[in-house]
Amino acid sequence: MMSFHSTRSTDSTVTAKQAIRQGIAPDGGLFVTDALAALQVNPASLAGQTYQETAVRILGLLLDDYSAEELDLCVRAAYGAQWSDTDITPLVRVGDDYVLELFNGPTSAFKDVALQLLPRLMSRTLPQADETERIMILTATSGDTGKAALAGFAGAPGTAITVFYPEGKVSQVQRLQMVTQAGSNVRVCAVRGNFDDAQAAVKAVFADRDLAGRLRDQAGTVLSSANSINVGRLVPQVVYYFRAYGSLIDLGAIKAGDPVEFCVPTGNFGDVLAGYYASMMGLPVARLTVASDRNKVLTDFLSTGVYDRNRPFYTTTSPSMDILISSNLERMLYYMSGGDTQLISSLMEDLFTQGRYQVPAGLLKRIRSLFACGWADEDQVSAAIRECWQENRYLIDPHTACGYRVMGQAPRLGGVPRVLLSTASPYKFPRVVGRALGLETPTSDFSCMDALSAATGTLPPPGLRGLEGAGIRFDDCIDVDDMPAYVYRTALCMKP
Ligand SMILES: *Cc1c(COP(=O)(O)O)cnc(C)c1O
Repeated sequence: MMSFHSTRSTDSTVTAKQAIRQGIAPDGGLFVTDALAALQVNPASLAGQTYQETAVRILGLLLDDYSAEELDLCVRAAYGAQWSDTDITPLVRVGDDYVLELFNGPTSAFKDVALQLLPRLMSRTLPQADETERIMILTATSGDTGKAALAGFAGAPGTAITVFYPEGKVSQVQRLQMVTQAGSNVRVCAVRGNFDDAQAAVKAVFADRDLAGRLRDQAGTVLSSANSINVGRLVPQVVYYFRAYGSLIDLGAIKAGDPVEFCVPTGNFGDVLAGYYASMMGLPVARLTVASDRNKVLTDFLSTGVYDRNRPFYTTTSPSMDILISSNLERMLYYMSGGDTQLISSLMEDLFTQGRYQVPAGLLKRIRSLFACGWADEDQVSAAIRECWQENRYLIDPHTACGYRVMGQAPRLGGVPRVLLSTASPYKFPRVVGRALGLETPTSDFSCMDALSAATGTLPPPGLRGLEGAGIRFDDCIDVDDMPAYVYRTALCMKP
């Protein structure tokens, strides 16, 4: 059976179900498996498949302690009628390139791909003998994760969810999506600070042994994460790289075995990491381009080998990429270093104590043989949205626009098709998109949606347009220091 261990040690191993249940390894590392290279998928076998068929197959390789029947049930429930496109992640031609649309799920952002599946995987990790125990998901969100996690976990048996978001740092639509979420097992709370503050505090809550004991004994609750560090978040994302490749064969753009490149708007490094997993599993990936916004800590790292979070934090028009600590980078470093857990431990120690680390030159060189990088400031993002609309009559959101700009600036690899991953519906950010197109942008995001719709002849997703006037359920706002106490109180009052 496939085993998972920490990026920082190989001392103890767990199964996929245990890794999904625990979220993060006890030593603070992320769960990884050394079996990826042994799972070679034949590219020719990807043609003519549905999304669901590809998903059951790829997930079956990576999560081998789930039965085929369990995976089939999970996949069918996760990728059903709640998606507005039956292809789930359709590949569309835009100019000379391709866009992989990841935003057709219930919350209109790419995180739905993982978060429609994760709760279903997690419900099946519950030990039979101990059905009174409930998992409480804790998530810090820079915008999109929160709503996608809430939508995935609302009403999921044996689970509850608490979401923290940085006050004033998410859009009106993003905030409304979260604070209007229905369900008796959900809680949403604003935190004074930025995303990294909230994320660090959530990590500290997970590491708090005393709190864990009280939660278990007094509230029958164990904590777990739905952030992109969870294996159950990462693995569903590997699927769409394979399906995109299959679609390119189906469209006649490539023959099986031909190389393809992907450009990925990046924050926490989860999305692009999934592409690296696919390449380790045999997908012919010529290049993975990491596109950042003005918080370009990854561009600097991939250019110099120095990761340094000691820098100003910018609140940009692409909030889900406003991140200075990209947690999932740790997994990439693990694989690129050939599984050097000692090196990873010491780098992460440096990051924790000094906010910076430097990787050896040989390692940087290996990384750069697959990963390219670039970034876009807000003016460039705005210009990219306008240009993409004018040239292709295709609307993109500000996150996707970072990728569009970076991809457009990079020299082409001769004859290799380029796929841009599109991570959110433009209607999630109607003000920024409207302004980029030179439209009037009234105070309400909903009027902006209507203006955008009128000007482009496109339609807003009903789930977004319908937020106007939806009842607000959550208005708590707390300091970072109060998060542990908040989690405890919430667990007590949502006791199973
Ligand atoms: C989360 C998110 C990203 C960044 O994805 P990572 O996996 O964190 O790199 C980009 N765009 C949007 C719209 C997102 O929600």
